[in-house]
Amino acid sequence: MENHLISDKASVTIIKGTTPENCVLEGIERLGGVGKFIKEGDQVFIKINLSLPNGFPVIPNFDVIRAIINSCKEAGAKKIYVGSFLFKGICMKKFSELLGFQEYFKNLGAELAFLDNSNYFEQKGIKLEQLKKIKDNNFYKIEVNDKYFLVPHVIVDSDKFISINQVNVNPIFKSNLSLLNCYSNVPVHNQEVNKRLPEEEDYIIHDEYKQELISNILDVYSIKKPDLAINDLFFLLEGAGPYIYRDSNLKKTGSLIIGDDAVSVDLITLKMLNVDTNSHDLILEAEKRGIGITDTSKIKIFGEMDDNLDIKLCVPNLQDINLRNFFIGSGLYCSGCFKQSYHLLNLMKTIMIKDLKYNPINSFLIGENPPEPKNLENIILFGNCAINSTKNSDFRRIKKEKGKSIIDDAKDIVLKKSNSEEKIKIKEKINKKILELPGCPPDIFKCIELMVDYYGKSNAPNLTLYNEVVKIWTNGKIKEKLKKWEAL
Ligand code: SF4
Repeated sequence: MENHLISDKASVTIIKGTTPENCVLEGIERLGGVGKFIKEGDQVFIKINLSLPNGFPVIPNFDVIRAIINSCKEAGAKKIYVGSFLFKGICMKKFSELLGFQEYFKNLGAELAFLDNSNYFEQKGIKLEQLKKIKDNNFYKIEVNDKYFLVPHVIVDSDKFISINQVNVNPIFKSNLSLLNCYSNVPVHNQEVNKRLPEEEDYIIHDEYKQELISNILDVYSIKKPDLAINDLFFLLEGAGPYIYRDSNLKKTGSLIIGDDAVSVDLITLKMLNVDTNSHDLILEAEKRGIGITDTSKIKIFGEMDDNLDIKLCVPNLQDINLRNFFIGSGLYCSGCFKQSYHLLNLMKTIMIKDLKYNPINSFLIGENPPEPKNLENIILFGNCAINSTKNSDFRRIKKEKGKSIIDDAKDIVLKKSNSEEKIKIKEKINKKILELPGCPPDIFKCIELMVDYYGKSNAPNLTLYNEVVKIWTNGKIKEKLKKWEAL
Protein backbone atom coordinates (compact mmCIF):
# COMPACT_ATOMS: atom_id res chain seq x y z
CA MET A 1 0.00 0.00 0.00
CA GLU A 2 3.06 2.23 0.21
CA ASN A 3 2.64 5.14 -2.17
CA HIS A 4 5.98 6.74 -1.50
CA LEU A 5 9.23 6.29 -3.35
CA ILE A 6 11.50 4.94 -0.64
CA SER A 7 14.10 7.59 0.03
CA ASP A 8 16.87 7.77 2.60
CA LYS A 9 16.76 11.56 2.68
CA ALA A 10 14.17 14.06 3.76
CA SER A 11 13.60 17.78 3.32
CA VAL A 12 12.12 19.86 6.09
CA THR A 13 11.52 23.57 6.20
CA ILE A 14 11.08 25.67 9.32
CA ILE A 15 9.25 28.77 8.41
CA LYS A 16 8.46 31.82 10.47
CA GLY A 17 6.18 34.57 9.26
CA THR A 18 3.44 37.04 9.90
CA THR A 19 0.45 34.76 9.19
CA PRO A 20 0.00 30.97 9.12
CA GLU A 21 -1.25 31.21 5.52
CA ASN A 22 1.88 33.03 4.31
CA CYS A 23 4.07 30.56 6.20
CA VAL A 24 2.51 27.48 4.63
CA LEU A 25 2.67 28.90 1.12
CA GLU A 26 6.25 30.08 1.50
CA GLY A 27 7.26 26.81 3.12
CA ILE A 28 5.94 24.77 0.18
CA GLU A 29 7.77 27.10 -2.23
CA ARG A 30 11.01 26.45 -0.36
CA LEU A 31 10.49 22.71 -0.73
CA GLY A 32 10.20 23.06 -4.50
CA GLY A 33 6.67 24.38 -5.00
CA VAL A 34 3.30 22.65 -4.90
CA GLY A 35 3.95 21.12 -8.33
CA LYS A 36 6.58 18.90 -6.73
CA PHE A 37 3.90 17.27 -4.62
CA ILE A 38 0.67 17.49 -6.65
CA LYS A 39 0.32 16.59 -10.32
CA GLU A 40 -2.41 17.44 -12.83
CA GLY A 41 -5.40 15.13 -12.34
CA ASP A 42 -4.39 13.88 -8.87
CA GLN A 43 -6.95 12.90 -6.28
CA VAL A 44 -5.75 14.41 -2.99
CA PHE A 45 -6.74 13.44 0.53
CA ILE A 46 -6.03 16.07 3.20
CA LYS A 47 -5.95 14.59 6.67
CA ILE A 48 -6.61 17.10 9.44
CA ASN A 49 -6.50 16.30 13.15
CA LEU A 50 -10.05 16.45 14.47
CA SER A 51 -11.27 15.13 17.78
CA LEU A 52 -13.92 17.21 19.55
CA PRO A 53 -16.29 19.71 17.93
CA ASN A 54 -14.38 22.64 19.42
CA GLY A 55 -12.88 25.60 17.65
CA PHE A 56 -9.27 26.43 16.80
CA PRO A 57 -6.70 25.49 18.08
CA VAL A 58 -8.31 22.20 19.17
CA ILE A 59 -8.95 21.78 15.44
CA PRO A 60 -6.52 23.02 12.74
CA ASN A 61 -6.30 26.57 11.49
CA PHE A 62 -8.70 27.03 8.56
CA ASP A 63 -6.43 29.60 6.92
CA VAL A 64 -3.84 26.84 6.50
CA ILE A 65 -6.37 24.30 5.21
CA ARG A 66 -7.76 26.85 2.73
CA ALA A 67 -4.26 27.73 1.49
CA ILE A 68 -3.48 24.04 0.90
CA ILE A 69 -6.79 23.39 -0.90
CA ASN A 70 -6.20 26.39 -3.18
CA SER A 71 -2.63 25.29 -3.89
CA CYS A 72 -3.80 21.78 -4.82
CA LYS A 73 -6.40 23.27 -7.15
CA GLU A 74 -3.79 25.50 -8.79
CA ALA A 75 -1.58 22.45 -9.32
CA GLY A 76 -4.47 20.79 -11.19
CA ALA A 77 -5.82 18.33 -8.60
CA LYS A 78 -9.02 16.80 -9.98
CA LYS A 79 -10.58 15.99 -6.62
CA ILE A 80 -9.72 17.08 -3.07
CA TYR A 81 -11.09 15.33 0.01
CA VAL A 82 -10.66 16.53 3.59
CA GLY A 83 -11.39 14.33 6.60
CA SER A 84 -10.55 12.43 9.76
CA PHE A 85 -12.03 9.98 12.22
CA LEU A 86 -13.09 11.73 15.43
CA PHE A 87 -13.15 11.22 19.18
CA LYS A 88 -14.92 8.07 20.38
CA GLY A 89 -18.70 8.29 20.05
CA ILE A 90 -18.72 11.39 17.81
CA CYS A 91 -19.71 11.05 14.15
CA MET A 92 -18.71 13.33 11.29
CA LYS A 93 -22.33 14.11 10.36
CA LYS A 94 -22.98 15.69 13.78
CA PHE A 95 -19.54 17.33 13.82
CA SER A 96 -20.17 18.86 10.42
CA GLU A 97 -23.66 20.06 11.38
CA LEU A 98 -22.26 21.80 14.46
CA LEU A 99 -19.31 23.46 12.72
CA GLY A 100 -20.62 23.79 9.16
CA PHE A 101 -17.76 21.77 7.65
CA GLN A 102 -19.53 20.22 4.65
CA GLU A 103 -20.69 23.53 3.27
CA TYR A 104 -17.39 25.25 4.02
CA PHE A 105 -15.28 22.72 2.09
CA LYS A 106 -17.80 22.64 -0.76
CA ASN A 107 -17.44 26.38 -1.15
CA LEU A 108 -13.67 25.95 -1.36
CA GLY A 109 -14.01 23.33 -4.10
CA ALA A 110 -13.17 20.36 -1.85
CA GLU A 111 -15.31 17.63 -0.31
CA LEU A 112 -15.70 16.62 3.30
CA ALA A 113 -15.09 12.86 3.50
CA PHE A 114 -17.50 11.04 5.81
CA LEU A 115 -15.01 8.32 6.71
CA ASP A 116 -17.40 6.85 9.28
CA ASN A 117 -20.26 6.65 6.71
CA SER A 118 -22.34 8.91 8.95
CA ASN A 119 -23.72 10.62 5.81
CA TYR A 120 -25.81 7.44 5.37
CA PHE A 121 -27.13 7.50 8.94
CA GLU A 122 -30.33 9.34 8.07
CA GLN A 123 -31.18 6.96 5.22
CA LYS A 124 -34.14 4.86 6.26
CA GLY A 125 -34.71 1.18 5.56
CA ILE A 126 -31.16 0.15 4.65
CA LYS A 127 -31.07 -3.62 4.57
CA LEU A 128 -28.26 -5.67 6.08
CA GLU A 129 -26.88 -6.70 2.66
CA GLN A 130 -26.84 -3.05 1.50
CA LEU A 131 -25.08 -2.09 4.72
CA LYS A 132 -22.44 -4.73 4.20
CA LYS A 133 -21.99 -3.67 0.58
CA ILE A 134 -21.49 -0.01 1.50
CA LYS A 135 -18.97 -0.97 4.18
CA ASP A 136 -17.12 -3.30 1.79
CA ASN A 137 -17.02 -0.55 -0.80
CA ASN A 138 -15.69 1.98 1.67
CA PHE A 139 -13.04 0.13 3.65
CA TYR A 140 -9.99 -1.97 2.92
CA LYS A 141 -9.06 -4.49 5.57
CA ILE A 142 -5.27 -4.25 5.66
CA GLU A 143 -2.98 -6.57 7.57
CA VAL A 144 0.14 -5.13 9.19
CA ASN A 145 2.23 -7.16 11.67
CA ASP A 146 -0.58 -9.72 12.16
CA LYS A 147 -3.12 -6.99 12.94
CA TYR A 148 -6.00 -5.87 10.77
CA PHE A 149 -6.87 -2.24 10.19
CA LEU A 150 -9.91 -0.85 8.39
CA VAL A 151 -8.73 1.97 6.16
CA PRO A 152 -11.16 4.00 4.05
CA HIS A 153 -10.78 3.55 0.28
CA VAL A 154 -10.75 7.31 -0.17
CA ILE A 155 -7.47 7.54 1.78
CA VAL A 156 -5.71 4.53 0.28
CA ASP A 157 -6.83 5.24 -3.30
CA SER A 158 -5.94 8.93 -3.30
CA ASP A 159 -2.89 9.74 -5.41
CA LYS A 160 -1.56 12.17 -2.85
CA PHE A 161 -1.89 12.33 0.88
CA ILE A 162 -1.31 15.55 2.84
CA SER A 163 -1.26 15.73 6.64
CA ILE A 164 -2.14 19.05 8.31
CA ASN A 165 -1.45 18.65 11.99
CA GLN A 166 -2.31 21.31 14.55
CA VAL A 167 0.43 21.08 17.17
CA ASN A 168 -0.60 21.31 20.83
CA VAL A 169 1.01 19.79 23.89
CA ASN A 170 0.10 16.15 24.53
CA PRO A 171 0.25 14.26 27.85
CA ILE A 172 1.79 11.05 26.47
CA PHE A 173 3.84 12.14 23.46
CA LYS A 174 4.67 15.70 24.65
CA SER A 175 3.22 17.15 21.44
CA ASN A 176 0.53 16.32 18.88
CA LEU A 177 2.58 14.94 16.02
CA SER A 178 1.93 14.14 12.35
CA LEU A 179 2.33 10.46 13.24
CA LEU A 180 -0.61 10.82 15.63
CA ASN A 181 -2.64 12.68 13.02
CA CYS A 182 -2.17 9.74 10.62
CA TYR A 183 -3.37 7.33 13.33
CA SER A 184 -6.92 8.61 13.00
CA ASN A 185 -6.93 7.33 9.41
CA VAL A 186 -8.55 4.27 10.97
CA PRO A 187 -11.80 4.05 12.99
CA VAL A 188 -11.66 4.58 16.76
CA HIS A 189 -12.28 0.89 17.56
CA ASN A 190 -9.18 0.11 15.50
CA GLN A 191 -7.14 2.65 17.47
CA GLU A 192 -7.98 1.15 20.86
CA VAL A 193 -5.34 -0.77 22.76
CA ASN A 194 -6.28 -4.23 24.06
CA LYS A 195 -7.31 -4.41 27.72
CA ARG A 196 -4.92 -5.84 30.25
CA LEU A 197 -5.51 -9.57 30.79
CA PRO A 198 -5.52 -10.97 34.36
CA GLU A 199 -2.39 -13.07 33.70
CA GLU A 200 -0.38 -10.06 32.45
CA GLU A 201 1.31 -9.31 35.76
CA ASP A 202 4.06 -7.06 34.36
CA TYR A 203 1.67 -5.12 32.13
CA ILE A 204 2.03 -1.88 34.08
CA ILE A 205 5.77 -2.11 34.82
CA HIS A 206 6.52 -2.56 31.12
CA ASP A 207 3.86 -0.02 30.17
CA GLU A 208 2.45 -2.47 27.64
CA TYR A 209 -0.33 0.01 26.89
CA LYS A 210 2.13 2.56 25.52
CA GLN A 211 4.13 -0.06 23.67
CA GLU A 212 1.06 -1.42 21.90
CA LEU A 213 -0.16 2.09 21.14
CA ILE A 214 3.19 3.05 19.59
CA SER A 215 3.29 -0.15 17.58
CA ASN A 216 -0.25 0.50 16.25
CA ILE A 217 0.55 4.13 15.39
CA LEU A 218 3.54 3.06 13.30
CA ASP A 219 1.59 0.21 11.69
CA VAL A 220 -1.16 2.57 10.57
CA TYR A 221 1.38 5.17 9.46
CA SER A 222 3.13 2.61 7.28
CA ILE A 223 -0.10 1.93 5.35
CA LYS A 224 -0.24 5.42 3.88
CA LYS A 225 2.53 7.94 4.48
CA PRO A 226 1.93 11.59 3.74
CA ASP A 227 3.59 13.08 0.67
CA LEU A 228 3.53 16.38 2.49
CA ALA A 229 3.42 16.77 6.28
CA ILE A 230 2.64 20.09 7.94
CA ASN A 231 3.07 20.68 11.66
CA ASP A 232 1.37 23.96 12.42
CA LEU A 233 2.69 25.51 15.63
CA PHE A 234 2.08 29.10 14.62
CA PHE A 235 -0.37 29.19 17.55
CA LEU A 236 -0.41 26.31 19.98
CA LEU A 237 -1.93 25.30 23.28
CA GLU A 238 0.72 24.91 25.94
CA GLY A 239 0.38 23.94 29.59
CA ALA A 240 -2.66 21.72 29.87
CA GLY A 241 -3.46 21.02 26.19
CA PRO A 242 -4.27 19.57 23.77
CA TYR A 243 -7.80 20.75 24.58
CA ILE A 244 -9.04 24.02 26.02
CA TYR A 245 -8.66 23.53 29.75
CA ARG A 246 -8.38 26.02 32.58
CA ASP A 247 -4.59 25.65 32.58
CA SER A 248 -4.20 25.73 28.77
CA ASN A 249 -2.52 28.78 27.34
CA LEU A 250 -2.51 29.93 23.73
CA LYS A 251 1.04 30.66 22.67
CA LYS A 252 2.18 32.24 19.44
CA THR A 253 5.42 30.87 18.01
CA GLY A 254 4.82 32.17 14.47
CA SER A 255 6.31 28.96 13.02
CA LEU A 256 5.32 26.06 10.81
CA ILE A 257 7.38 22.96 10.07
CA ILE A 258 6.76 21.33 6.71
CA GLY A 259 8.43 18.45 4.96
CA ASP A 260 8.21 15.40 2.73
CA ASP A 261 8.72 12.91 5.55
CA ALA A 262 6.35 13.09 8.54
CA VAL A 263 8.82 11.39 10.92
CA SER A 264 11.49 14.03 10.15
CA VAL A 265 8.92 16.80 10.51
CA ASP A 266 7.95 15.40 13.93
CA LEU A 267 11.58 15.00 14.95
CA ILE A 268 12.37 18.63 14.15
CA THR A 269 9.14 19.78 15.83
CA LEU A 270 10.07 17.97 19.05
CA LYS A 271 13.56 19.47 18.95
CA MET A 272 12.02 22.93 18.56
CA LEU A 273 9.88 22.22 21.62
CA ASN A 274 13.03 21.25 23.54
CA VAL A 275 11.95 17.61 23.91
CA ASP A 276 14.77 15.09 24.16
CA THR A 277 14.24 13.02 21.00
CA ASN A 278 16.79 10.43 22.19
CA SER A 279 14.32 9.33 24.84
CA HIS A 280 11.10 9.88 22.89
CA ASP A 281 9.56 6.39 22.67
CA LEU A 282 7.66 6.98 19.43
CA ILE A 283 10.67 8.40 17.58
CA LEU A 284 12.93 5.66 18.98
CA GLU A 285 10.55 2.93 17.80
CA ALA A 286 10.26 4.54 14.35
CA GLU A 287 14.05 4.52 14.18
CA LYS A 288 14.21 0.88 15.29
CA ARG A 289 11.71 -0.14 12.64
CA GLY A 290 13.37 1.99 9.96
CA ILE A 291 10.22 4.05 9.46
CA GLY A 292 10.98 7.55 8.21
CA ILE A 293 14.21 9.51 8.55
CA THR A 294 15.34 9.97 12.14
CA ASP A 295 18.99 10.75 11.43
CA THR A 296 19.30 14.55 11.33
CA SER A 297 22.37 14.34 9.08
CA LYS A 298 20.02 12.96 6.40
CA ILE A 299 17.48 15.73 6.77
CA LYS A 300 17.98 18.76 4.58
CA ILE A 301 16.75 21.60 6.75
CA PHE A 302 15.70 24.91 5.22
CA GLY A 303 15.38 27.73 7.71
CA GLU A 304 16.57 28.41 11.21
CA MET A 305 15.91 26.05 14.08
CA ASP A 306 14.45 28.03 16.99
CA ASP A 307 15.22 26.10 20.16
CA ASN A 308 14.14 28.99 22.39
CA LEU A 309 10.44 28.50 22.11
CA ASP A 310 10.06 27.83 25.84
CA ILE A 311 6.82 25.87 25.60
CA LYS A 312 5.22 24.63 28.81
CA LEU A 313 4.55 20.91 28.32
CA CYS A 314 1.87 18.85 30.09
CA VAL A 315 2.61 18.05 33.72
CA PRO A 316 4.09 14.55 34.17
CA ASN A 317 2.34 13.89 37.53
CA LEU A 318 -1.39 13.89 38.10
CA GLN A 319 -0.91 15.53 41.51
CA ASP A 320 0.49 18.58 39.70
CA ILE A 321 -2.91 19.22 38.11
CA ASN A 322 -3.79 20.63 41.52
CA LEU A 323 -7.50 20.10 41.65
CA ARG A 324 -9.19 21.96 44.45
CA ASN A 325 -10.66 19.80 47.23
CA PHE A 326 -9.33 16.63 45.63
CA PHE A 327 -6.77 14.31 47.14
CA ILE A 328 -5.10 12.33 44.34
CA GLY A 329 -3.60 9.03 45.48
CA SER A 330 -1.62 7.05 42.93
CA GLY A 331 -0.69 3.39 42.91
CA LEU A 332 1.07 1.77 40.00
CA TYR A 333 -0.52 2.77 36.71
CA CYS A 334 0.29 2.72 33.01
CA SER A 335 0.02 5.33 30.25
CA GLY A 336 -3.59 4.29 29.52
CA CYS A 337 -4.96 5.45 32.87
CA PHE A 338 -2.52 8.37 32.98
CA LYS A 339 -3.82 9.75 29.69
CA GLN A 340 -7.51 9.36 30.52
CA SER A 341 -7.23 10.64 34.10
CA TYR A 342 -5.10 13.57 32.91
CA HIS A 343 -8.01 14.63 30.67
CA LEU A 344 -10.71 13.90 33.25
CA LEU A 345 -8.95 15.84 36.02
CA ASN A 346 -8.24 18.78 33.73
CA LEU A 347 -11.83 18.76 32.54
CA MET A 348 -13.04 18.72 36.15
CA LYS A 349 -10.70 21.58 36.98
CA THR A 350 -12.17 23.51 34.04
CA ILE A 351 -15.89 22.93 34.52
CA MET A 352 -16.35 21.86 38.15
CA ILE A 353 -14.72 24.70 40.09
CA LYS A 354 -18.04 25.79 41.64
CA ASP A 355 -19.29 22.20 42.02
CA LEU A 356 -16.23 21.30 44.04
CA LYS A 357 -16.86 24.23 46.37
CA TYR A 358 -19.99 22.43 47.54
CA ASN A 359 -18.28 19.02 47.67
CA PRO A 360 -15.19 19.83 49.69
CA ILE A 361 -13.98 16.31 50.48
CA ASN A 362 -12.97 14.06 47.61
CA SER A 363 -10.33 11.44 46.95
CA PHE A 364 -9.26 10.19 43.53
CA LEU A 365 -7.46 6.87 43.61
CA ILE A 366 -5.77 5.48 40.55
CA GLY A 367 -3.62 2.45 39.68
CA GLU A 368 -2.82 -0.78 41.45
CA ASN A 369 -2.71 -0.62 45.27
CA PRO A 370 -3.26 3.10 45.66
CA PRO A 371 -2.83 4.71 49.11
CA GLU A 372 -5.77 4.97 51.51
CA PRO A 373 -8.01 7.96 50.82
CA LYS A 374 -7.76 10.96 53.13
CA ASN A 375 -11.40 10.59 54.08
CA LEU A 376 -14.25 8.13 53.76
CA GLU A 377 -16.36 10.44 51.62
CA ASN A 378 -16.53 10.75 47.82
CA ILE A 379 -13.85 8.24 46.94
CA ILE A 380 -13.41 7.94 43.19
CA LEU A 381 -11.72 4.76 42.02
CA PHE A 382 -10.40 5.34 38.52
CA GLY A 383 -9.83 2.27 36.33
CA ASN A 384 -10.01 -1.50 36.81
CA CYS A 385 -6.64 -1.69 38.57
CA ALA A 386 -7.73 0.72 41.31
CA ILE A 387 -11.12 -0.98 41.66
CA ASN A 388 -9.84 -4.57 41.78
CA SER A 389 -6.81 -3.99 44.00
CA THR A 390 -8.86 -2.21 46.70
CA LYS A 391 -11.67 -4.76 47.00
CA ASN A 392 -10.59 -5.57 50.59
CA SER A 393 -9.27 -2.15 51.60
CA ASP A 394 -10.31 -0.65 54.91
CA PHE A 395 -12.05 2.30 53.28
CA ARG A 396 -14.59 -0.07 51.70
CA ARG A 397 -16.23 -0.48 55.13
CA ILE A 398 -17.18 2.05 57.73
CA LYS A 399 -16.54 0.90 61.31
CA LYS A 400 -18.50 2.47 64.13
CA GLU A 401 -18.14 1.89 67.86
CA LYS A 402 -21.54 0.92 69.16
CA GLY A 403 -22.45 3.36 71.93
CA LYS A 404 -24.06 2.14 75.21
CA SER A 405 -27.61 3.12 75.99
CA ILE A 406 -28.95 4.20 79.44
CA ILE A 407 -30.48 0.71 79.82
CA ASP A 408 -27.05 -0.85 79.15
CA ASP A 409 -25.55 1.38 81.86
CA ALA A 410 -28.26 0.36 84.34
CA LYS A 411 -27.65 -3.32 83.61
CA ASP A 412 -23.91 -2.78 84.28
CA ILE A 413 -24.69 -1.29 87.71
CA VAL A 414 -26.98 -4.22 88.65
CA LEU A 415 -24.40 -6.76 87.46
CA LYS A 416 -21.63 -4.66 89.09
CA LYS A 417 -19.66 -4.65 85.86
CA SER A 418 -16.95 -2.05 85.58
CA ASN A 419 -16.54 -0.04 82.35
CA SER A 420 -13.20 -1.66 81.61
CA GLU A 421 -14.84 -5.10 81.55
CA GLU A 422 -17.15 -3.97 78.81
CA LYS A 423 -16.01 -5.09 75.38
CA ILE A 424 -16.24 -2.32 72.78
CA LYS A 425 -18.74 -3.35 70.19
CA ILE A 426 -17.80 -2.42 66.61
CA LYS A 427 -20.46 -2.16 63.95
CA GLU A 428 -19.42 -2.39 60.29
CA LYS A 429 -21.26 -1.25 57.23
CA ILE A 430 -20.38 -0.94 53.56
CA ASN A 431 -19.08 2.49 52.57
CA LYS A 432 -21.48 3.73 49.93
CA LYS A 433 -19.61 6.97 49.29
CA ILE A 434 -17.46 5.28 46.67
CA LEU A 435 -17.72 5.83 42.93
CA GLU A 436 -16.12 3.23 40.69
CA LEU A 437 -15.13 4.36 37.19
CA PRO A 438 -14.39 1.06 35.46
CA GLY A 439 -12.37 0.50 32.31
CA CYS A 440 -8.89 -0.34 31.18
CA PRO A 441 -8.56 2.57 30.77
CA PRO A 442 -11.97 4.22 31.50
CA ASP A 443 -13.87 6.16 28.85
CA ILE A 444 -14.09 9.89 29.70
CA PHE A 445 -17.67 10.46 28.57
CA LYS A 446 -18.85 7.41 30.52
CA CYS A 447 -16.96 8.70 33.58
CA ILE A 448 -18.77 12.03 33.33
CA GLU A 449 -22.15 10.26 33.16
CA LEU A 450 -21.32 8.16 36.22
CA MET A 451 -20.08 11.23 38.11
CA VAL A 452 -23.30 13.13 37.34
CA ASP A 453 -25.33 10.18 38.70
CA TYR A 454 -23.15 9.99 41.80
CA TYR A 455 -22.90 13.67 42.78
CA GLY A 456 -26.42 14.51 41.60
CA LYS A 457 -27.71 17.49 39.67
CA SER A 458 -27.98 19.78 42.71
CA ASN A 459 -24.46 19.00 43.96
CA ALA A 460 -22.77 19.23 40.58
CA PRO A 461 -24.84 21.59 38.36
CA ASN A 462 -21.92 22.56 36.11
CA LEU A 463 -20.89 18.99 35.47
CA THR A 464 -24.53 18.15 34.72
CA LEU A 465 -24.72 20.98 32.20
CA TYR A 466 -21.51 19.84 30.51
CA ASN A 467 -22.89 16.30 30.31
CA GLU A 468 -25.98 17.64 28.53
CA VAL A 469 -23.72 19.38 25.98
CA VAL A 470 -21.75 16.17 25.41
CA LYS A 471 -25.04 14.34 24.77
CA ILE A 472 -25.66 16.62 21.79
CA TRP A 473 -22.55 15.12 20.14
CA THR A 474 -22.86 11.58 21.44
CA ASN A 475 -26.51 10.80 22.06
CA GLY A 476 -27.72 7.21 22.19
CA LYS A 477 -29.08 7.20 18.62
CA ILE A 478 -25.71 8.30 17.18
CA LYS A 479 -23.87 5.67 19.21
CA GLU A 480 -26.26 2.98 18.03
CA LYS A 481 -25.69 3.96 14.41
CA LEU A 482 -21.91 4.17 14.80
CA LYS A 483 -22.01 0.68 16.26
CA LYS A 484 -24.20 -0.67 13.49
CA TRP A 485 -21.88 0.84 10.93
CA GLU A 486 -18.84 -0.44 12.81
CA ALA A 487 -17.44 3.06 12.98
CA LEU A 488 -17.45 3.55 16.76
S1 SF4 B 1 -6.73 -0.23 34.43
FE1 SF4 B 1 -5.49 1.52 33.89
S2 SF4 B 1 -3.55 1.28 34.98
FE2 SF4 B 1 -4.58 -0.71 34.94
S3 SF4 B 1 -3.73 -1.74 33.14
FE3 SF4 B 1 -5.65 -0.76 32.54
S4 SF4 B 1 -5.06 1.21 31.71
FE4 SF4 B 1 -3.28 0.45 32.90
